[in-house]
Amino acid sequence: MNWQELGLKVGLEVHWELATKTKLFCNCPNRLVNRDPDKIIERYLRPSFSELGDIDVAAKVEAMKGKKIIYQFYNDVNCLVEIDEEPPHQPNPEALEISFIIAELLNARIVDEIHVMRKTIIDGSNVSGFQRTMLIGLNGYIETSFGKIGVASISLEEDSARIIDNNKSIFRLDRLGMPEVEISTKPDIHTPEQALEAAEQLGKLLKSTGKVKLGLGVVRQDVNVSIKDGVRTEIKHVQRLSQIPEVVVKEVQRQLDALKKGEKLENSVRVALDDCSTKFLRPLSGAARMYVETDVYPILVDKKLLEKIKKNLPESLDKKLERYLKEYKLSHEIASQLVNERWQIFEEAVNLGIDKAIAASTLVNILKDLSRKGVDVDSLDDQDIINILLAHKHGKIAKEAIPVLIENILKEKDIDKLIDMLKLRSINKSELEKIVEQKIKQNIDKLKTGNAEKILMGLVMAEVRGRIDGSIVNEVVKEKIKSIF
Ligand SMILES: [Zn+2]
Repeated sequence: MNWQELGLKVGLEVHWELATKTKLFCNCPNRLVNRDPDKIIERYLRPSFSELGDIDVAAKVEAMKGKKIIYQFYNDVNCLVEIDEEPPHQPNPEALEISFIIAELLNARIVDEIHVMRKTIIDGSNVSGFQRTMLIGLNGYIETSFGKIGVASISLEEDSARIIDNNKSIFRLDRLGMPEVEISTKPDIHTPEQALEAAEQLGKLLKSTGKVKLGLGVVRQDVNVSIKDGVRTEIKHVQRLSQIPEVVVKEVQRQLDALKKGEKLENSVRVALDDCSTKFLRPLSGAARMYVETDVYPILVDKKLLEKIKKNLPESLDKKLERYLKEYKLSHEIASQLVNERWQIFEEAVNLGIDKAIAASTLVNILKDLSRKGVDVDSLDDQDIINILLAHKHGKIAKEAIPVLIENILKEKDIDKLIDMLKLRSINKSELEKIVEQKIKQNIDKLKTGNAEKILMGLVMAEVRGRIDGSIVNEVVKEKIKSIF
């Protein structure tokens, strides 16, 4: 397709959860839970008059359906704020600071005063019937290989409740109130490939802060597509970055097909499906339905804080990769995976004096192997991994014990207890020699039948696996066999 002739224009809207300790408008921890709820709360949507005395048409229509919405409440990650029984607290300063860093990296003009607004959401995913959002920055840009792409706005907002059962309207309240940034680019993208590059650049920039969440489900990407003779379509929830070009191509194709058949097209919101095609959701609404959140005071942006942020902007991931290759002499493959996924914990480990090769192979290879085995590596706590690496550094465990401990850390958080539970405490060479001698004594007849080294190695390893370096075992076994036979 000739994109220039078609007059393709694409804009991106990226939502990314921030890795703060607590939520945006209360002190609940910023984490998901996966168990049965502690309480169930049932609600019905009820329209009310706005400050101007009107009732929102869409709200009225929804309310007339009389739909019951069920919320799953958890004592450890929810409070009265999520169920709209207590006013929101002032916005989390940690989340504000992260959004300032992101706005600076996007070369945006940060607003002087922050106002929390309410955006009407009536699908049940927000208990209050609105989502709170605040504008942080305007008119930024990112650099790409095909030039600058404008960033229209950067907002900080609260995430919605998680849908658990669509048919029964069951939502889980753990995610409600988690802070996320929303970045909207201008429609400066003119080919599907440029759209992918722009999304990748945005992702790299956000990850370079070290303060956004990683893993599945923490990012939501919407893609706006229009062509000269067609209409504007907002495509929601493109799951993976790699799908963006195909989603754009398919949407343009859809519009061209409709035009050819003489069908009437309308601006609309569609949702992306697994095969990159899209499904109609609703007509594109006009101006956003926003009004002021009267329970939160406006916030004057602290200019001194902005100065400090400007002076300490994070290193870009490209620079970091270069540094890892040069300074740490890591392979390109390992270094690029660390930079993309786990650079923070790697740098923390190196700062603690943990061997960089062991830290790198643990964070890349071991975690990948464990994930393949079905271990939920996304639930691992960074601090637990650091503690395991420290146990190795202090000689408590052999290198071989690292994956075994990581696999079991979710069961027992106390590393020392876990080491004893799994019988992984390191032994030294003289303890090993005693074990080898004992095994020889017990199995002398069997060893005489041939291939003594292999048999003995098997017997000893069964007892000391993970407690001492395998190469030392090999060495001791060889020595002892030689001295006997
Ligand atoms: Zn709360």
